[in-house]
Amino acid sequence: MPLSRRSLLPILAGALAAAPRLLRAADVVSAASPYKRLPPPEQASTNTTVMVGESRLELSIEGRPFDLSTDTLTGWVQHSAEIVARYYGEFPIPEAWINLRGARGIGVMTGQANPTTNGAVVNVLVGLSATPDALARDWIMIHELIHLAFPSVHRRHQWLTEGLATYVESIARAQAGALTADQVWLGFLDGMPKGLPRAGDKGLDYTPTWGRTYWGGALFCLLADVNIRAQSNGEKSLQDGLRAICQAGYHMMEIAEVRDVLRIADDATGVPVLSKQYAEMRAKPLPTEVDSTWRSLGVAARDGNVIYDDNAPQADIRRALTQRAPLVSA
Ligand SMILES: [Zn+2]
Repeated sequence: MPLSRRSLLPILAGALAAAPRLLRAADVVSAASPYKRLPPPEQASTNTTVMVGESRLELSIEGRPFDLSTDTLTGWVQHSAEIVARYYGEFPIPEAWINLRGARGIGVMTGQANPTTNGAVVNVLVGLSATPDALARDWIMIHELIHLAFPSVHRRHQWLTEGLATYVESIARAQAGALTADQVWLGFLDGMPKGLPRAGDKGLDYTPTWGRTYWGGALFCLLADVNIRAQSNGEKSLQDGLRAICQAGYHMMEIAEVRDVLRIADDATGVPVLSKQYAEMRAKPLPTEVDSTWRSLGVAARDGNVIYDDNAPQADIRRALTQRAPLVSA
């Protein structure tokens, strides 16, 4: 997965300055991706309202010469939002502003999601030469939209907001049929080891490196998903916990304590997996390895292919993780 283009730059000074009313505590951050801010639009934009269930997305497409039509770009935003709504049961915020900006390039290039005084804003930079195929393969829009589903938390928990976006993006696309199980597992087998602690690691809350933030957070989510499913005998999943957080009224425009939202999720699944994992991993260099998880799930990579072991103890959980899910009534 092309997360290597992300680097962990100092984050969010701009977003905090833009949102003093909403983000009172200087240390509170949301899920903004650490990209430099986009320049102002060069030309007038086309504005459209995209409805996803009850949610209103105000879409603004910069008036530059995209190879793709406005209809195609609008359809991509709608489709991406529906993938996110399918995972969360409904689109996770009542309204958001989506800005597509153009730049020389052939694909979807970068994105950021910020809480502002005007509401939740997602900016995505799209190549002027982007093709329909590039939109079909894109993960950036879905990653940014997933950020809307989690409240703004203290900056030391950025691993959780980025980990959720990284992990849920793959699972949500698999549920929608936009990624195959092989693609999900190849991405996870390659990416998750990058989230393991290295020498000097002080735990997820105190080690804001790129690897620990994106993949350490994603590994936390994978382990939580597997453990919730195991401890609830396959009845519940991380998805149930995350839906409960949304149903409790949390989204990017709300500020929350991490322990409070994890407890809401644990109450919904009936197993205290998230709170327990958080207590274990927040200030210690854990987990120490991921190979035992792959063995238990029965998944390995060999010569660029995925090998499955259906006799592995948690093979059922592995299959359930990437299963197609029905579309919510949008
Ligand atoms: Zn992100």
